[in-house]
Amino acid sequence: MFEWSDEQRMIRDAVRAFVEAEVRPRREELEFGDTPPYEVIRKLYRTFGLDQMAREQFKRRIERERLAAEGGPGRSETPTVDAGDGGGGGAGAGFMLLPIIELCRCSPGLVTAMGVSVGLAAATIMSRGTIAQKERWALDLLTFEKVGAWAITEPDSGSDAFGRMQATARRDGDEYVLNGSKTFITNGPYADTTIFICKLDEGNPPEERKVLSFVLDRGMPGFTQTGPMRKMGMHSSPTGMLFCDDVRVGRDRLLGETEDVPYREGAKQAFSVERTGVAAMALGIIERCLELCVDYAKTTVRFGRPIGEHQLVQEKIARMEMHRLNTENLVFRTIERAAAGRPMDLTEASVMKLYTARAAMEVALEAVQLFGGNGYMAEYEVEQLARDAKVLQIYAGTDEIQISQIARSLLG
Ligand SMILES: Cc1cc2nc3c(=O)[nH]c(=O)nc-3n(C[C@H](O)[C@H](O)[C@H](O)COP(=O)(O)OP(=O)(O)OC[C@H]3O[C@@H](n4cnc5c(N)ncnc54)[C@H](O)[C@@H]3O)c2cc1C
Repeated sequence: MFEWSDEQRMIRDAVRAFVEAEVRPRREELEFGDTPPYEVIRKLYRTFGLDQMAREQFKRRIERERLAAEGGPGRSETPTVDAGDGGGGGAGAGFMLLPIIELCRCSPGLVTAMGVSVGLAAATIMSRGTIAQKERWALDLLTFEKVGAWAITEPDSGSDAFGRMQATARRDGDEYVLNGSKTFITNGPYADTTIFICKLDEGNPPEERKVLSFVLDRGMPGFTQTGPMRKMGMHSSPTGMLFCDDVRVGRDRLLGETEDVPYREGAKQAFSVERTGVAAMALGIIERCLELCVDYAKTTVRFGRPIGEHQLVQEKIARMEMHRLNTENLVFRTIERAAAGRPMDLTEASVMKLYTARAAMEVALEAVQLFGGNGYMAEYEVEQLARDAKVLQIYAGTDEIQISQIARSLLG
């Protein structure tokens, strides 16, 4: 694949029209008004029938799993550790990535909020939960009727999430008691459903403890969700802290209802999916910056000619196009691999994330530079895109973590 198909172009144009009509006019309030992004996302779901599609896919999958549980053909009911397709799946990868790209041309935070709710929270329940848990929590997340959060990061453990995790679950009769705090949690302030990841404390050393995940509902006694944190960018994606203070949960909230699903292997697959999603986000940011810069370079006259005729400006535009083409090709590669049923492994996904996040940051900062003082003003979009692009180098694993993952896999 080296270009979008006619069908994909049609979808792209339709989503772009939606973004222009529904998102761009609200950019100001999403950016600076603390307006939660969920109604806009729900409108996207309704407009394109994503909620109905998710409902039907969910129904088919649950029917298959029930059949398998009864001994017929289909998927096993035993909790598995696949990343969950969140309703997208192989051939649909392009269809899933196009809205990401298009939304990121205007408001990348919307993608963060949507991606965490569907691609992490719902996908974790779909890959690790029992049928009953999927029906209880995942369907409402997949249709975006409810908002989900996925909480692993703690004040003292981000990159080393598993190694330094302090949050605990202790058995108490038939129940568990959860304690600990989480930070930088996307949708944390508003989530209806939160995946709380912690270690089972059996009195053993922390490094030997099993990692478990529990589903928490908003308002449970002892569970606190803070308001949105102030941050550099991604203003349309609320981020908060979570606290568990002796939160009592039954086994029905332990994903898979078993302590014996190895967490780390499943997490690796989820990380790959997340990292390839970042490449699509980067593409949206790069495309929009380049488009704005080409227009500005043609129409802004300095020293008697359009700035696009100055070679130093041309170099910026040429590098932006180089990054756009490379990033687009990596996105095409994701689509091709998914269609062939061979999703990227973690190392390849890390290479892709490292390159595309850096490319988006370079392009967005150079776009600010090309716009001069205007580029520094909030009124011009490139200022927001530059602030938003920065986080692509931090979340879903920092650049440094991607580098060590890639080097470890090459050097053994
Ligand atoms: C906007 C936003 C949304 C987020 N959403 C979520 C969410 O929904 N759920 C969630 O659980 N988390 C979320 N996070 C957390 C995010 O995943 C972490 O911030 C990220 O993994 C980095 O961890 P940290 O912030 O603790 O940095 P640290 O791990 O403290 O890293 C500090 C610095 O040290 C470097 N470093 C660390 N270890 C190494 C090493 N081995 N080699 C070289 N350098 C190293 C890092 O690269 C970084 O430069 C979010 C973060 C942000 C900013």
